[in-house]
Amino acid sequence: MQNKLIILSAPSGAGKTTIVHELLDRISNIEFSISATSREKRVTEIHGEDYYFLTTDRFKKGIGNNEFAEWEEVYENQFYGTLKTELERIWSKGNHIIFDIDVAGGINLKKKYGKNALAVFIQPPSVSALEERLRKRKTESDDKIKQRIQKAQQELNSAAKFDIIIVNDDLQKAVAETENAVKRFIHN
Ligand code: ADP
Ligand code: 5GP
Repeated sequence: MQNKLIILSAPSGAGKTTIVHELLDRISNIEFSISATSREKRVTEIHGEDYYFLTTDRFKKGIGNNEFAEWEEVYENQFYGTLKTELERIWSKGNHIIFDIDVAGGINLKKKYGKNALAVFIQPPSVSALEERLRKRKTESDDKIKQRIQKAQQELNSAAKFDIIIVNDDLQKAVAETENAVKRFIHN
C-alpha cells in the first residue's frame, strides 16, 4: 500500500476540525496526525490526542534538530508543526494520514508529497460567518479572534493552490463531499 496524505486546511473557524472528526468516524484506514504546538492547551483538549503540547523552548529545539516534516509560526509566538516521528507512527500501522493544518503548512506538505497528497481547502461561506463561528466557539479572546480574522483574508486568496475546494455552509453536505473525495483518492 502506498502511504497517502490527506490535508485539510482553512482559515481558523471554517470547520476543518469538525470535518476531520466526522471523516475519522466514517473512513476506517485513516488516522489523525497529532501536531505539536507551543500554544496553551484549551480545557477540552488532551495532550497526545488533540496535540502534543510543547514549551516554546522545546519546540524551537525540535526545529534546530530537524525533527519536523513541516512547521509554521501560525500566530505570533505560537508554533505548530508535524513531527517526522508522527508520520512514521501512522504509516507503520498501514494507515493513511489526515492533517488539520494551516493554509501555509498545507501548501508546503502538498509541494513535498505531490501526487501522494490530496490537499483540500475548506472554505467558509463568508468572513462574517467565520467570525461568528469563532465567537460562538468561545475558545479565543477578542484579540486572538481579530488576529485570526485578519489572517483569514489572505488565506482565502490561497484556495486555488489546493486540489479541491469544499464550501462549508451546510456541514453535512460539506462532510459528504469531502468523504467522497477522500475515498476516491485513497482507492486510486
Ligand atoms: P477550525 O478547525 O477550522 O478552526 P472548527 O471545526 O473548530 O473550525 O469549527 C469552528 C466552529 O464552527 C465550531 O464551533 C463548529 O462547531 C462550528 N461549525 C463548523 N461547521 C459549521 C457549519 N457548517 N455551520 C455552522 N457552524 C459550524
Ligand atoms: P488551533 O489553535 O485553532 O488549534 O489551530 C490554529 C491553526 O494552526 C489552525 O489553522 C490549525 O489547522 C493549524 N495547525 C495545527 N497543527 C498544525 C501543524 O502541524 N502545522 C501547521 N502548519 N499548522 C497547524
